[in-house]
Amino acid sequence: MLRLGGSLLEDLLSLDPGHRGPRVECGEGHRAEFVGYRPKGLDTVLGPVTLQRAWYHCAACRHGLAPTDARLGIAGGSLSPGLRRMVARVGSAEPFAQGRRDLAELAGLELTAKRVERSAEADGELVGVAAAQEADALLAGRVVQFPGAKPVEKLYIALDGTGVPMVPRETAARRGKGPDGRARTREVKLGCLFTQTALDARGRPVRDPDSSSWVATLGTAERFGSLLYAEGLRRGAGHAGQLVVLGDGAPWIWNLAGEHFPGAIEVVDLYHAREHLHALGRLVLPALGADGPGWLAERLAELDRGDVEAMLAAARRMALEAVIVADVETALGYFETNRERMRYGRFRELGLFVGSGAVEAGCRAVVAQRLKLSGMRWTVRGASAIVSLRCQAASGRWDDVWTRLHSQTTAA
Ligand SMILES: [Zn+2]
Repeated sequence: MLRLGGSLLEDLLSLDPGHRGPRVECGEGHRAEFVGYRPKGLDTVLGPVTLQRAWYHCAACRHGLAPTDARLGIAGGSLSPGLRRMVARVGSAEPFAQGRRDLAELAGLELTAKRVERSAEADGELVGVAAAQEADALLAGRVVQFPGAKPVEKLYIALDGTGVPMVPRETAARRGKGPDGRARTREVKLGCLFTQTALDARGRPVRDPDSSSWVATLGTAERFGSLLYAEGLRRGAGHAGQLVVLGDGAPWIWNLAGEHFPGAIEVVDLYHAREHLHALGRLVLPALGADGPGWLAERLAELDRGDVEAMLAAARRMALEAVIVADVETALGYFETNRERMRYGRFRELGLFVGSGAVEAGCRAVVAQRLKLSGMRWTVRGASAIVSLRCQAASGRWDDVWTRLHSQTTAA
């Protein structure tokens, strides 16, 4: 049946071989001359087909072109748009070699893993570039985002970063945590936007189902900021009842929040804050002996209430007794800097999330489960492309992406 469909498609495509007279515009302002009809092999959803199409040559550019290729969106490639979409799907979901096997098993299509990789990464790159351009246009005010019909009650913007393992040339001369002081990874900055309206029976906030969308980049914090700002506008940040930025204590997160979402409530993820308190505990516990666990439990309870001042005061008294003031002060810097972001008691009263579990689960689902599998080493370009595709898929925008990509390539 596939072979039959393929031969029908071949006939259909040959109905208009793309002869547009003796000369056509070459695209660079010259006239390209008709040369003759040339075959092009094309892999499609129905298997390989060959199309005959008119071929023109521009003497000035020394470059050939076929109007048919542009019309079908296959210029410069040998996969049909429909097959490219399938390839991008498997390539973003799983390792390329596995994607190749699934295409063969599920669709009867034989491609090499290298072609799966090239095509998926090329399309992922287009998706990433389109997202960046759209974000820049929004940020510059060249494009206006109309608010959705229904204003959102609470919009959360949860931010995190995670390292993706790189081929050595991508991390050369970068310092990192490796045993030799060299970096092995590059950071993906990931943002999860979601809304919340309801509380559960115990008064805890519940994420609205299917309300998460994702942005990510391996680029600079500035690039991430514009993507985030654009996604914020798309999600109604401009007229949300309450905007909340959730993150660990990393300074770049709060710099971006201040720049793009100045009215937001900023919350340091409670679990990160607890980890920092446990680290502080390890400094002072030796001096406390048997009282240690009780002491730490009291500090954790203070943190949980958002009473950062009581926690700081108790830790400072302890540091004086144990004569380890300098070390403790360093550890307390995190709490000093972020104290207004740790008013957990008040945040709970407002019915807000105090943990960024959403983005951490997202780091695993969107990034780690595809990009951090054992033995993987990425280029920045490849990782960026696949992350772009995965963000769109996780945000429920897979269809939109292809409608837009296809209209772009055929217009080109
Ligand atoms: Zn030309």
